[in-house]
Amino acid sequence: MQDKREELRQGNTIDASKLSTQNTFFTDAAWNLQGSQNENEGAQAGIGVYIQLKQGYSKLQASISATGMTANSAVQAEALGLKLAANLLESLHIQEAAVLTDNLTVAKAAAARSPRKEPGNWQIRSYIADFCAMTEFKNIQVYHVNRDQNSIAHEAARLAITQDHVASPIHRFSCTNPVHTRGHCRLLQRLMHTQMQGFVLLRVNCFSD
Ligand SMILES: [Zn+2]
Repeated sequence: MQDKREELRQGNTIDASKLSTQNTFFTDAAWNLQGSQNENEGAQAGIGVYIQLKQGYSKLQASISATGMTANSAVQAEALGLKLAANLLESLHIQEAAVLTDNLTVAKAAAARSPRKEPGNWQIRSYIADFCAMTEFKNIQVYHVNRDQNSIAHEAARLAITQDHVASPIHRFSCTNPVHTRGHCRLLQRLMHTQMQGFVLLRVNCFSD
């Protein structure tokens, strides 16, 4: 049997259901160069984040679709996903969480927390550096998950780059969580009123299981 500590070493591939953290942020990106006007200028990244919070906000789940800055590669778009997660941690005042990505290069680089010594890939260096700086004083662990565990974030990311959204961004925030009294969803309140460093939140859906 594999050693449990070895299994949960940051940057490694884990089974998300085995995590004991209170809060989990799944991130994914959708990126397609064919949709861009000029291939040399890259393409806008669609970012999806699926949040599970087990404390502070009562128990909640939320899926977030956002557009990020222009990315020049898929790995760069995935690194933007981590940077959005760092922004969300900040705006929700969350101190402790596991951040998950299905890109192993991004997971390894962020887990190393040494973007200068271990940049992983030069294209992601600045985003990983931003992620590390923004989460420096928090208890944040970064792991890799297989794509089949990341399907909600994946769908949220795809939604962000569908043609409709690119043409006319719909800023849509909704809460169907029965314990959040109508109009008093703290998650939405926080996210509606925070600037996200180059990200535009297209859709935020708060729900419970
Ligand atoms: Zn809510």
